[in-house]
Amino acid sequence: MPELPEVETVAQGLRRRALGRRIAAVEVRHAAVIAGSAEDFASTLEGRKFARVSRKGKAIAVELTAEDGSAPRFLLVRLGMTGQLTVTPHDAPIEPHTHVFMALDDGREELRFRDVRRFGRLRCLTEQELEKVLGSLGPDAQHVTEAQFLAAMRRRKGAIKSWLMNQNLVAGLGNIYADEALYEARIHPLSQPGRVSGDKARQLYKAVRKVLERAVRLGGTTFSDYLDIEGRPGAFLKKLRVYQHTGEPCRRCGQAIRRMVIAGRSSHFCPRCQPRPRIAAKMRGPREPGA
Ligand SMILES: [Zn+2]
Repeated sequence: MPELPEVETVAQGLRRRALGRRIAAVEVRHAAVIAGSAEDFASTLEGRKFARVSRKGKAIAVELTAEDGSAPRFLLVRLGMTGQLTVTPHDAPIEPHTHVFMALDDGREELRFRDVRRFGRLRCLTEQELEKVLGSLGPDAQHVTEAQFLAAMRRRKGAIKSWLMNQNLVAGLGNIYADEALYEARIHPLSQPGRVSGDKARQLYKAVRKVLERAVRLGGTTFSDYLDIEGRPGAFLKKLRVYQHTGEPCRRCGQAIRRMVIAGRSSHFCPRCQPRPRIAAKMRGPREPGA
């Protein structure tokens, strides 16, 4: 599932390949990936230009300006589990599960949205609507300040793994990078955020920033579906230390990496480098928010 580094890579690709270009025509083949009416979506986008691409957490927002100078609209993209945005020549073969086509400029190239599982969504919003959606997210994990990060940890009692994945607190982390950051900071996934020492909390903050920065540099992690705007996989898979490495030796101490289910999600950690705290969070059911 795409997390911040994958979404950031797609956003960078959009800046490179779509900025300044005009949407000549929109074709929606499967309306389930459009939030709201597909007809309204298509007619609003047609004729507009890609003016600015921004990202918060796992959401991409593209500002679309109109030639008549009327108020801009925003294309909100959520890749969900298997969403892919690619810019391809119009005559490139069409992969199965390609649901939306946006012809660019003279129509020789197009932006395609493909999504096998169909949990991804494209939405067309006004500026006010966009602010409301993005306002419900916590600060972006790549740009959050240390003070914001430490404040958000205070008095929190659940598992730190779930806390890291709660998009309302810090936006952008999912299962992969939460596991990797906890390993980097040597913190057990069942630690309670409010009980982690100040030093450890600062280490976690640095670990989150470091892991994300490296992953963005390598274009994210591809297990099966995630691709960048040119259709290329990310190269971070080889750099993962614990995620899906159950039973393999820890790179630091040699102990076998363990897997544990927290709030319905797999957590991977080294039992020696990330010792279980004396007072650990209780294991919760799969309905914990942000999981
Ligand atoms: Zn270890």
